Amino acid sequence: MSHFGGRPNDPIPRAARLERIEFAYGPLAEFIPCGLPHCKQLHGRGFVVTFVDENGAVGRGVIGQDCGRRHFGEAWKEEYRQHRARQRESEMHARSTEFVRLTDAVEPALEKLLPALEKQEHIRSTLYRCAPFFMRHCETAVKSGGVVRVIGPDLQVFEHNIKGGGFFVAGGDHDRAWQAVMAIRGVRHLIADPATKLKDLSERISHAGDLRQALKSARAALAEGQMALKAGHMRDLIAVVGAQMQFGETYIRVNGSVLEAAPPGSMKPIAVGNLVEFGRLAKQCLQQEATGRS
Ligand SMILES: [Zn+2]
Repeated sequence: MSHFGGRPNDPIPRAARLERIEFAYGPLAEFIPCGLPHCKQLHGRGFVVTFVDENGAVGRGVIGQDCGRRHFGEAWKEEYRQHRARQRESEMHARSTEFVRLTDAVEPALEKLLPALEKQEHIRSTLYRCAPFFMRHCETAVKSGGVVRVIGPDLQVFEHNIKGGGFFVAGGDHDRAWQAVMAIRGVRHLIADPATKLKDLSERISHAGDLRQALKSARAALAEGQMALKAGHMRDLIAVVGAQMQFGETYIRVNGSVLEAAPPGSMKPIAVGNLVEFGRLAKQCLQQEATGRS
């Protein structure tokens, strides 16, 4: 009796009956002798099997795949099919467990961020609709270093550093976070269904993408929006860009803490959201989320 990985490697007699394919091994750097004494080959990969010899004793040995097929015939074919099924099931179990472990924390955290992200998205899209000049100006400034620079009518140069620049150049943060939540639910649904195939589960998990990264991005987007939409910052920003905007087609004014935008030619401002309220909501979400993080 020799040993393979601390397990007995018994010779497999000609009359042995195949009991079970335990597991596949290899590829190995150092090939090992086949359990079939008449094989005389070294195999770099194969299977560890249990068998019953002619006296009814149970043994355990290694065997190559082709050798197994030739020696055990139909019994090998059937056991190999079952071995693959067991393997798929255990892989399915492993993938499911790993996914649930990962998303148990990610899903509620993402969900908590959704209301604030939605509000932020609403403010952004309203600003783009009502004050496209202002937003495009800020966007260009962020892309070229983050400083808004405007030369006033008396040639005085106004400058302002844009905070939370991501707010002006990005978009769709809420949709991405929502899609990540939906992807998690979709995979959980598959896991709960006993008819789910490993291939489908793997595909859906891959398709869901890096969910930890999705949460990280959502957090970052909210933090950026919080900085960008701080009433004081917005006021300063508008004071600079607004110097030109008053001759442009659109204008925005910050009235106390409420940001308002007016469409061209309209005297009636459209409230796009109370910034202080948004700031509180965003802060609350990020804090709750931070304390809930392990
Ligand atoms: Zn062999």
